[in-house]
Amino acid sequence: MKRKQPKLITGGILLIFSLTLCFLSGREFRSMLKKDKIYPSSGLTEVQKLSHYFPSLKGSPGDTDIYIFSGEEAGGNLLILGGCHPNEPAGYITAVLAAENIRVQKGKVLIIPQANLSGFTHNDPFEGNPQRFPISTPGGDRWFRYGSRLTNPVHQWPDPVLYRNPAGQKLAGTEYRNLNRNYPGRKNGGLTEKVAFGIMELLRLEKIDIAIDLHEAAPEYPVINAIVFHENSAELAAIALMELQMEGIELRLEESPKNLRGLSHREWGDFYSIEAFLLETANAAHGRFKGKPSTALILEGKDNNYVKAGRLGRLFVHFDENGIPLEERAARHIAAVKALIASHNELHSESLILFTGLPDISVLKKEGIGAFLKPPK
Ligand SMILES: [Zn+2]
Repeated sequence: MKRKQPKLITGGILLIFSLTLCFLSGREFRSMLKKDKIYPSSGLTEVQKLSHYFPSLKGSPGDTDIYIFSGEEAGGNLLILGGCHPNEPAGYITAVLAAENIRVQKGKVLIIPQANLSGFTHNDPFEGNPQRFPISTPGGDRWFRYGSRLTNPVHQWPDPVLYRNPAGQKLAGTEYRNLNRNYPGRKNGGLTEKVAFGIMELLRLEKIDIAIDLHEAAPEYPVINAIVFHENSAELAAIALMELQMEGIELRLEESPKNLRGLSHREWGDFYSIEAFLLETANAAHGRFKGKPSTALILEGKDNNYVKAGRLGRLFVHFDENGIPLEERAARHIAAVKALIASHNELHSESLILFTGLPDISVLKKEGIGAFLKPPK
């Protein structure tokens, strides 16, 4: 009996330690369910849920908000999609920034800041990234979630060993939870396939003319600082690129590969013949070479490992001690969106889309994103 006592004490301490650890990590995990606040501009016409277009999503973790801005005059219809990959903050923040500033005069602009809403409710534990990052506004800090590339496994599980997506492409099993491999979606599929199907329904029912999917990628990824275009919009993309070059913004044009199926630009363009684009900027927090993950890395984009990799010629973008801050990445997205719409208007006078409010990119880079976001309420 005497010999058993130390074992009981050690066991008790270990049990209390494990329970405390479970409680704290559970609390952290659940904290990601708390939604980010978005304050749309006074030009907002209505907010809809994705389930408005595909009722089967109603009340599900994929039923994301859609901010709709209608002009007084009818015209063309634009969809801006952010947060397809919630670990690509420039895509997400550019969509938020657009929703909080845009005013539409002609046509209609629909903005989805969190396309994969479930992906915002967790992050990738092995990446060590913070769960949130702050953006300072004159009225205080706004906090935004830094989620995962994939749908939360709590909402969609298990992954198959091999995933055959709705477009027939065979992929690794985890891609079953990657929204940008799930198009054109499945009506009765997994949650991610249903979200993809809902977005396809929105494109059809809202008669979208041009859709732009905002992303980021690691600086070592070859398709970076790029406009990926569906081949039906090659001329439009070329005109936009010339406009961007005249403004001193270097971007590459990449044609959407025909044999890589399930991606937004490929399936949107193939299904509805709309002008479909995907934009990529370089996010060091996303990459395999990154050093210590932190909010500073997400916001300032500075990383010594990437400076070294750049010197060794291993990157597809210029990367020096100044890093690639979030302002610069969001500015590239905004400049490309403006150029694509100007180019659309040049080619399609029958479906003009006219809006104001998106910041001048030199002012955005100088004053920061927070200058263009509403203060927290
Ligand atoms: Zn992405």
